[in-house]
Amino acid sequence: MNTLHEVLGLAGVDLSSEAIAFDAADQRLSTDSVDEAALAEIDALAGWDALGPEALQLHRDVRALLADRWLGRAASTFLAGTFSRDLFLELGSLGALGAGLVGDHVATPREKLAVFAVMHALEWGDGGLRCAVTIQDSVIQALLRFGTAEQQARWVPRLVSGEAVASFALTEPQAGSDLRAVSTRARRVGGDWVLDGAKSWVTNAPAADLILVWARSGEANDDLRGFLVERGAVGLTVDPIRNAAALRAATLGRLTLDGVRVPSDSLLPHAWGLGDINACLDYNRMTVSFGVMGAARFCLEAAITHAREREQFGAPIGTRQLVQSEITEMVTRVVLGEMLSIQSALRWSARAPRRLEVSLLKRHNCAAARDVAARARSVLGARGIDLESHVARHMLNLEASYSYGGTHEIHGLVVAKSVLGLGAF
Ligand SMILES: Cc1cc2nc3c(=O)[nH]c(=O)nc-3n(C[C@H](O)[C@H](O)[C@H](O)COP(=O)(O)OP(=O)(O)OC[C@H]3O[C@@H](n4cnc5c(N)ncnc54)[C@H](O)[C@@H]3O)c2cc1C
Repeated sequence: MNTLHEVLGLAGVDLSSEAIAFDAADQRLSTDSVDEAALAEIDALAGWDALGPEALQLHRDVRALLADRWLGRAASTFLAGTFSRDLFLELGSLGALGAGLVGDHVATPREKLAVFAVMHALEWGDGGLRCAVTIQDSVIQALLRFGTAEQQARWVPRLVSGEAVASFALTEPQAGSDLRAVSTRARRVGGDWVLDGAKSWVTNAPAADLILVWARSGEANDDLRGFLVERGAVGLTVDPIRNAAALRAATLGRLTLDGVRVPSDSLLPHAWGLGDINACLDYNRMTVSFGVMGAARFCLEAAITHAREREQFGAPIGTRQLVQSEITEMVTRVVLGEMLSIQSALRWSARAPRRLEVSLLKRHNCAAARDVAARARSVLGARGIDLESHVARHMLNLEASYSYGGTHEIHGLVVAKSVLGLGAF
C-alpha cells in the first residue's frame, strides 16, 4: 500500500493506459505554436552547430523517436514505474547507446560528441530514460577502459544494441557522498571471487542483465575493484525501489550480495580505486549536465506554448510583463547551460575533463534546469501539475539529478577546493 501506484489507485485514480490516453487527448500540450525560428535562434546562440552534422542528426532522430513513441505514454509509464525495454532496443538500433565510445574502440572526436546530443534529446523526453542510458554507457565505458578483450566481446555488442541492460553499483546504504566508506567485500575462494555487501540507489537494477559491482578486494591499498555480476547470480537479491518520486522510467533497486560467487574473469583487471571509478563518473556527470538541459528545453518550450495560447483577463498571459520575466529567466538558463555544455563537450572530445570543469558544469546545469522546470510549472498554472503536461514529471526528475552523480553541495566543495587549494571534506 505504500507505492505511488497503489496510493494513487487508493485515491481512485484510474491508471489504466486507456484512461491515461483519454485524459491525454484533452490535456496534452501541443508544441505546434512554438515559434521554430525563435528556437533556432536559441540553438544558434548556444552554439549547437559546433557539435557537427552527425551529432545533430542523431539529436533529431532521438527526439523524433521520443515524440512519436514516448510522450504519449510518458505519464502512464512514470506512474507505473516500468522500464521500457522496447524503447531501449529502438535506441540501440538508432546508435544512441554507447554513442561516445572511448577506450580501445576510440571514436573520432566528432563522433564522441554525438553522445551529448543523444543525452539532451533523451532527457527532452524523460530524465529516467536519459539516466538509464547514462548508466548503460558508463558500464560500456568501464568495459572498454578497464576490461579484457573477452569481457568486451561478451558484453559491449549486446549493451550497444540494447539487447542487454546494465547497472553501475557503487553507492551503499552507509556510503553516499563519502565513497571511502564503501564496504562491500570481495574475497578469493579457490579460483573464484565471493562478494558480500549491500548496494542502494542502483539505476536499472530491476531490469539489469549485467551489474558492475564495486567492492574492496583486500589487494593493494584495499582499493575498490569492479566485478561483473550477471542477473540470476546465486546470492544476489535485487529489490526494486518502488517509492521513488523521480526517474521512474529508469527503475531503481537495492542489491544484497550474500556470498555471490563469480569466476575470476569477472574482475575488470585494469580498474583500481576511486581514481579510475571517477573517470567513469566524470563521463557520467558530463552526460547528466547535457541531459538536464534537454529537460529544461522541454519545459521552456511548454512554457512558451502556454504563454502564447492561454488567455486570461482578455489577453494571452505571455503579453504580461511578469510572465515575460519568467520566460526571460528560463531562456537565459537554457542558453547559458547549453553553451557551457557544448564548450565542455568540445574540450572533452580532445582530452579528459578536469575536476573543476566537471563539478562546475554538473552543479550549474542541474541547478539551472531545476529552476527552469519550477518556473515553467508556475507559468502553466494548474496545468503544470498535470503529469500530461510533462512539466511536473521533468520537475521531479530534475530534483533527483540535483543529488545523484555527486550532490550539488559536494560539487560546490570541489569547485571551492580547486580555487582555494583548501579541502572542506
Ligand atoms: C535517482 C538516483 C539514481 C542513482 N543511481 C545510482 C547508480 O546507478 N549507482 C550508484 O552507485 N549510485 C546511484 N545513486 C546514488 C547517488 O550517487 C547518491 O545519492 C549521491 O552520491 C549522494 O549520496 P546520498 O544520497 O547518500 O547523500 P548523502 O551523502 O547522505 O548526503 C546527504 C546530504 O548531505 C550533504 N553532505 C554530505 N556530506 C557533506 C559534506 N561533507 N559537506 C556538506 N554537505 C554534505 C549532501 O550534499 C546532501 O545534501 C543514485 C541516486 C539517485 C537519487
